[in-house]
Amino acid sequence: MLENKTGIVFGVANQRSLAWSITESLASAGAELAVTYQDTRFEKKIKKMAGESLEKEPLTILCDVTDEKQVDRLTQTLENSFGKLDFMVHSIAFAGKEELEGAFINTSRDGFLKAMEISAYSLVSLSRALLPLLKEGGSIVTLTYLGSSRVIPNYNVMGVAKAALEAIVRYLASDLGPRRIRVNALSPGPVNTLSARGIKGFTGFLEQVDQKTALGQNISGREVGDTALFLCSDLSRGITGEVIYVDAGYNIMGL
Ligand code: NAD
Repeated sequence: MLENKTGIVFGVANQRSLAWSITESLASAGAELAVTYQDTRFEKKIKKMAGESLEKEPLTILCDVTDEKQVDRLTQTLENSFGKLDFMVHSIAFAGKEELEGAFINTSRDGFLKAMEISAYSLVSLSRALLPLLKEGGSIVTLTYLGSSRVIPNYNVMGVAKAALEAIVRYLASDLGPRRIRVNALSPGPVNTLSARGIKGFTGFLEQVDQKTALGQNISGREVGDTALFLCSDLSRGITGEVIYVDAGYNIMGL
């Protein structure tokens, strides 16, 4: 489905990362890929994972989105290695641990700005940086969560950042539509990842959601990966500016 297509997935920390499940789905469809990691301490593990479990080894690139020099270097590496891009997946979020517990009203100014910069603004800055490479149109996908529009205990400032992210998806979709670049968000149900475990009470939450989905169970990372594959492929060519839930129907339920 993605033969002769090249793309990049931002935000692999380990094997549990949704970015990794997405990478596996995209790779299985034949895409040529680059994946990014935030910190050199992830590097060895990610290179090993990439070498071992994917048929075609992806490029692995260091990219902390708060470091403009790293973003510039990444763009240059992609230009030199691929010459063009067909899709980009943004699977990055951050809020300090102290912001993900207790009352939202206690969100600090620094905590608010950091969460917004990394979890929302980075979609704007990365899309702008990679725009010259999306030469023949393309697809941009990000990951949001239901906490953008409903109050989820302890999700706090991250819910506000996800609301901003979803608005960014719509504005970018309008900006980039004339270039045939589509911009969409996936909204997965809870999955046990490094970031998710930073939210106070996450494990109990996972159990509660499991009982209440329409499909009767929580989702897997690979279900998110396969929906990302759909959004990166031409099968979704008529869809832009949308938030697509991959949550086993949790968001439609009343009681
Ligand atoms: P994860 O911890 O595996 O991934 C988060 C990634 O963000 C990590 O790779 C981390 O290094 C990266 N990151 C943080 N700060 C960064 C920075 N300054 N520069 C570059 N990268 C940075 O966790 P995940 O659950 O796979 O999260 C991926 C995305 O999915 C996030 O946007 C998250 O909000 C979203 N999401 C997760 C769930 C869930 O339950 N796990 C549900 C809905 C949405």
